[in-house]
Amino acid sequence: MPHLSLYRKFRPDTFDKIVRQEHVVRILRNQIGQNAVGHAYLFTGPRGTGKTSVARIFARAVNCEHPVNGSPCGTCATCRALAEGSLDITEIDAASNNGVGEMRDLREKVQYPPVTGRYKVYIVDEVHMLTDSAFNALLKTLEEPPAHAIFILATTEPQKIPATILSRCMRLDFKLIPEEDLERHLTAILDEIGKPYEKEAVAAIARAGAGSDRDMLSVAEACIVYSDKLTYDAVCSVLGAADFRETAKLVSAMLSSEMGTAISVAEGVLAEGKSVGVLFKDILTLLSRITVAKTCRNAEALLSLPKELFALVKEISDGASERAILRATEIFARTESELRFVSSPRISLETAILRVACPESEQDVDALLVRVDRLEKQLKEAAEAAKNAPPAPKIRETAPKREKEVPPQAEDYSFPDEEPVFEEAYFSDPAPSPRTAEPAAPKPTAEPVRPAAEPVKPAAEVPPKPAGGGTMTAEEAFGKFMRTLRKTSRNGVLFTMCMDLVSSFEGEKLVFETPSETVFRALNRPEHIKSMEEALSLLGISEFEVRKSAASPKEQDAVEALKKNFGDYPVEIK
Ligand SMILES: [Zn+2]
Repeated sequence: MPHLSLYRKFRPDTFDKIVRQEHVVRILRNQIGQNAVGHAYLFTGPRGTGKTSVARIFARAVNCEHPVNGSPCGTCATCRALAEGSLDITEIDAASNNGVGEMRDLREKVQYPPVTGRYKVYIVDEVHMLTDSAFNALLKTLEEPPAHAIFILATTEPQKIPATILSRCMRLDFKLIPEEDLERHLTAILDEIGKPYEKEAVAAIARAGAGSDRDMLSVAEACIVYSDKLTYDAVCSVLGAADFRETAKLVSAMLSSEMGTAISVAEGVLAEGKSVGVLFKDILTLLSRITVAKTCRNAEALLSLPKELFALVKEISDGASERAILRATEIFARTESELRFVSSPRISLETAILRVACPESEQDVDALLVRVDRLEKQLKEAAEAAKNAPPAPKIRETAPKREKEVPPQAEDYSFPDEEPVFEEAYFSDPAPSPRTAEPAAPKPTAEPVRPAAEPVKPAAEVPPKPAGGGTMTAEEAFGKFMRTLRKTSRNGVLFTMCMDLVSSFEGEKLVFETPSETVFRALNRPEHIKSMEEALSLLGISEFEVRKSAASPKEQDAVEALKKNFGDYPVEIK
């Protein structure tokens, strides 16, 4: 027995079995019931929506001796004769017979009366493919059709049909079939052939059909032979959709600005042989599901995903703002539409991922709004964490690093109680509350903990320490030096010359640098060295040196400021 495709095997033979299209079926049934059929019909609509099936049923029904509810009975002599093949029903595929010859031939033959039934029915599929002269030949026939002739013209592109033809036809529009109807149809077929299936698998196949029964059934056919049971995973494999979880990981990382993860997951998926185009489709499909999960209350029913996968989608949608999801969708949709014009789709994919993951890199309003959303979220979380914060001593426990670095006189240097809580909450994940017993590890992305020995008190009050710089930074030492110098030397010129010095420690030695040759020479004069020595000895610094530097202090400051403000970028001074 030759293998029959599902679509042909389960081709409807009565109007009852037509999936959807009630509006069309009802008109045709009534016409048959009232014995008032027309001579020319135009069936339009997307492919796979049942145009040819309806045409065939109609062709047999108009000939049937006693139609049942408008459908052919299938048992009368005419029905049986037509089922065996008859000259009375002629199907012409205009896609392959677009010549004027066929239409002239039709014009001649249509004059002969039907052999078995009452009507001769001509079904012209893809009628928009006819050439101009073929249309003209058809038009001649339609202008003066014999009483026994019925023409059914079917097309997916009615706009290509000449107006002269259109005006002679009754036009019936076929609509895309809703997913739930496709699902119902497929479920019935699977039950009939006794194939076990997962509900989600059927939903996925129906979705892949995109409104077309024929497309859905050809996908189903491939899935059915793939494995014993029709599973969601099998359907994904057949459809070439990348693993759902991997895509989810990618999108989740992308939306939470984890660029590294997102790119490496994408690399992994592509390394498995998925094409960039397929991955783009997968990402867009997932983004649209995330949108549904974010905005619709009955999202679970709408998406009809397996439970755990829906949970995954929900988790991502909960973690991202509407705007971020919308922005990601826009970026991917736009990039996908440009994909066929680029020489390296892979680079387009990576760029799209980076753009979504890093709104900081863009200046447009959407990107800025996404950043604002994110900041608002962080602030809210921080505020909530602060509200729930435990009393002060506990906080110290959560920040062991700072505790350790605080010198003996810690009391004077400690930060206000609220501050560490804020910082902690701001830079760490919302989940671990400061109340938890485990010390919260500082996140690598967080700003480095401030040096604990930052001076709060004026320098003069700090007792000089014998061990050179000690815990002082070069800047602090410089500040103290200047204050002491003013008191000890009373030399205005010296004081002014020292003002623009840049200081640094080399071990115990305090190094002053100046870009000015004049200042360098003047400060190295014995009397000035002596004054500076006196001032520094009061601070416990015995070694020092004045050097000439390359860059001016102002430039140096600017470089420092740049490095501080743009810590993530390497600052190079030329
Ligand atoms: Zn019949």
